[in-house]
Parts: sequence; structure tokens; C-alpha cells
Amino acid sequence: MNTPPVARHPSTSSCLSRRSLLRLGATAGAALLLPPALLAAGGRRRVVVWSEGTAPKNVYPDDINTAVAEGLKSLDGWEVIKASLSDPDQGVSEERLNGTDVLIWWGHQKHGDVKDELVDRIVQRVKEGNMGFIALHSSHFCKPFRRLMGTRCSWREYVADGTSVKIIVKAPDHPIAKGVKDFELPKIERYGEPFLVPEPETVVLDGIYTKPNGQTEPGRMGLCWTVVRGRVFYFTPGHETYGDFFRPEVRQVLRNAVEWTAPKA
Ligand code: ZN
Repeated sequence: MNTPPVARHPSTSSCLSRRSLLRLGATAGAALLLPPALLAAGGRRRVVVWSEGTAPKNVYPDDINTAVAEGLKSLDGWEVIKASLSDPDQGVSEERLNGTDVLIWWGHQKHGDVKDELVDRIVQRVKEGNMGFIALHSSHFCKPFRRLMGTRCSWREYVADGTSVKIIVKAPDHPIAKGVKDFELPKIERYGEPFLVPEPETVVLDGIYTKPNGQTEPGRMGLCWTVVRGRVFYFTPGHETYGDFFRPEVRQVLRNAVEWTAPKA
């Protein structure tokens, strides 16, 4: 009746969540159970933000990877790393990829420069369920995204004519929409539908462009897929002259997307 409560040592539990493992810190028992990517980051998960270094300096003084990485800083339990095409192994060495849970990609002019053997490793890691992939804006034509989608990945047209867009949360219960309300971007490069990708698992964000002449046109803004065992998210805004990656709403979407695309324990 007055039996003292049994103290259960956490490591004896057979159903430890990743979160509780993180709380355990670097105890030997926890370390044995942690996935390799978590061990590499000292118990934290790792997101790598890659860009090609071509964004205009007056908008992105330290390129787009820096602006995106700054927006991810508040993610709890994540190490945020910047990578660039000009880094050794184009910023995505095998060693780095092996410790990466999510790879975010912004490219435009230099898709063709990215080495195929690096793309092979990225695609394999995603399909094996060891890394999520997030493609931003003009990265719809980057090699890893096209390989993951297996389609042309083209939009019908690309028009930077001062169009604005209202971004509409279409799937409010989806994790990528957490804390996100409908919002406006005053300028966007209009990517006209259809977008030749496989049918998304979810369209989290929809959009309505308003053209300079007042006409409106729909366009999907945030789409996600599961490719074999890995998760992929594509975000339509992010033209290099408009500074979208400094916007709090965009940063919230990307933080959520990192959590959603990350491999699950
Ligand atoms: Zn663009």
C-alpha cells in the first residue's frame, strides 16, 4: 500500500521518443540509440541551407543562404549550416550530407554546374528516408528536385512584372501551416500554372496573383510530396530581387517545413 513509487530509469523504457532522448543529453544509453545524423550534430538535428551565390548584393548582401539560415535560428534543437556552390565539394560533401537531416536549396543560374555525383547522393539520401529536401522558387529546375520529382518541373510562364500575390493557407491542419495565416507578398515573380510535377500529397499553400492590370490568376505556393521514404517541400516565392526570405511569414513557413521534412525517428 505504501510501496514507494518505482523509479524508472529512462534508458529502460522501450518507447523513448526522440524528444526525450534529446532531454537525456549525452548519456551512453541515449547515444547508442541516436541516429547517426543526431550524433554528428552533438544530439541536435542539422539543416543545411544551400545557395549558388548569385543573388544581388543590394537585396541579399550575404546571399540567400544567409537570409534563410537567419530565419531558422529560432528552431529548437537544430544546428543551422550555410553551404554554397563555391564551397569545397560544392557545399554538399558526402561527409556533410551524412550528418544532414534537411537540405534547403536555392539555385537559379547555375543548376548545370552542380555535379551529378553530388546530386546522386542527395537523391539517394532523400529516398532512403535519411534527409528531407526543400526546393525554393527557381530551384524547381535544380537537379536534385527534378530527379526527385521525375518530371519536367516547368511552369507555363515566368513573369516578373510587379505582380503581387495573396498566399492562402489551404491546409490549415498541416504541420507546415502551423502558426501561418494568409499573407500578401507585394511583389512576386509570377510562375504560371500548370506546374509540371507529380500530384502533390498536399497543397499546403495556395495563391492568387493580382497582375498589374488588375486581373487575378491562381498559382500553387507550397506543395509537398513523399518520395519513396523521404519528404520534399517546394515553395514558389523567393525571387532574388524581392527579399522574401527576410519576411516573418516566409520564415515561419520554412521553419515548419524543416520540421515536417525531417526524417522521423
Ligand atoms: Zn525568380
